Amino acid sequence: MTATATRLLENYIAGRWMPAAAATGEQEVVNPATGEVLARVPLSGSADLDDAVTAARGALAEWRAVSTIARARKLFELRERLVARGEELARSVTTEMGKTIADARAEVARMIEMVECACAIPTTMQGRILEDVSRNIDLETVRQPVGVCAAIVPFNFPAMVPFWFLPFAIACGNTFVLKPSEQVPMTQQIAFEELDALELPSGVVNLVNGGRELVEGMLDHPGIDAVSFVGSAPVAKLVYERAAKSGKRVQALGGAKNHMVVMPDAVIEPTVDGVIGSAFGAAGQRCMAGSVLVTVGEAHERVMPALVAATEALTVGDGLQERTDVGPVISCAARDRIVGCIERALADGARAAVDGRAPAGDELGSGGAFIAPTILDDVAPDAPIIGEEVFGPVLSVVRAGSLDEAIDIVSASRFGNGVSIFTESGASVRRFRHEVQVGMIGVNIGVAAPAAFFPFSGWKESFLGDLHAHGPDAIEFYTRKKTVTSRYYSSGQGSGSYFVEHAGG
Ligand code: NAD
Repeated sequence: MTATATRLLENYIAGRWMPAAAATGEQEVVNPATGEVLARVPLSGSADLDDAVTAARGALAEWRAVSTIARARKLFELRERLVARGEELARSVTTEMGKTIADARAEVARMIEMVECACAIPTTMQGRILEDVSRNIDLETVRQPVGVCAAIVPFNFPAMVPFWFLPFAIACGNTFVLKPSEQVPMTQQIAFEELDALELPSGVVNLVNGGRELVEGMLDHPGIDAVSFVGSAPVAKLVYERAAKSGKRVQALGGAKNHMVVMPDAVIEPTVDGVIGSAFGAAGQRCMAGSVLVTVGEAHERVMPALVAATEALTVGDGLQERTDVGPVISCAARDRIVGCIERALADGARAAVDGRAPAGDELGSGGAFIAPTILDDVAPDAPIIGEEVFGPVLSVVRAGSLDEAIDIVSASRFGNGVSIFTESGASVRRFRHEVQVGMIGVNIGVAAPAAFFPFSGWKESFLGDLHAHGPDAIEFYTRKKTVTSRYYSSGQGSGSYFVEHAGG
């Protein structure tokens, strides 16, 4: 199929699908397992963004006036609609991003959980009131929407990550502008077909496709009040600074380098399963992927033989095949970059316990971006590869003599997204949990995956901002608090003076 024969994706603005009116170019959307061009995505320009923001601003008053329970009902309906198209969404994720179909189904399940959690808005958006802060004077805090909220998202979770934000934002009465990753823009076309079917006031949700230029326009746009970003650490920093400079509320979730600590008392079989799932699931392209294995003492001898054998047994292939364990990485350019990381690590003294640079298999056609799981052993704790995010199926193994040493290795990282510890010792876990400088911890869990009803985010260069994604933090992020002090003279209950009484103790 030639590029020109493929569908040119549209934007969804003001309740209508429309071609980008001011595109500065377009880009091919490629199936990373086959090299097939799936569609073309427009790189929308500033006039497209203006249209989306104008629509979103225009919808604010009408949407805010819809009662919270009615807004929740729209989300209940969205939930049913997404469930009905769940398999289609999962296949879209696999086709444009590459992860296995089982992994994509799990992603879609988590996307839908975000909607379910946002359905609780009549409860979660409640404010607080205290009667009689002084005689006949009450104080209350109510939550009101922030305004037009935008999200800029990465390639690795085409279904779930946009939904870390969208359902919570609109549940709180905000309107929304989404910019999907230009590498994987197709899954959100399906999601927006279902949002369209809800018949929300036009402009409540908007989808604008584009790249870097569009992001920069969003960060500077005076009509956008809040920005949520998920992506690599350098871009997170840029987004955080530029959005804050233009006075926006901003949360920016960045890149990662996650460790997995295996203690000598770990139960080996499930530990190996956990490590493999974390390091090689989604071909290592999760922000929570474990990419440094820290073995403590004799854990190295206990875990490595089983880990190497299990890694060598993994099947690499097209994620749509149910038997595939590891799909392609996002692009051939990404594969070449990852191979370069492995080569530099080997030159720096690492040893390839499993070398996946030249994956074999009849089904791996020449157009796919395949690289097989790779384990680099004997890596020095200060080797360059320990400090950089590879974002591919590459696991580096570092030895530590003690739990304290392992904690130091983990905490020395400039990232602090996720970490796992494998042990049966409650004392080790307690100490680890207390000391380690990381935002999310798995205990005998390879991927401490996001749960809709808890906040999710790392520390240090993995996160800039204070309010994390989803859970109770989403309600904080998507509402402004307003505090009202009131009294009524005719209530017959007398009157105090709050400030005078307070000053008097
Ligand atoms: P990326 O930073 O390249 O792109 C993310 C978004 O930013 C995309 O929508 C892209 O269009 C835009 N963008 C890219 N470069 C830009 C620039 N220079 N200026 C303005 N906008 C720009 O990230 P990616 O490769 O799509 O995603 C992978 C990264 O995302 C990894 O680093 C991964 O760890 C991270 N990630 C983090 C989390 C988390 O929760 N912390 C979750 C998922 C992914």
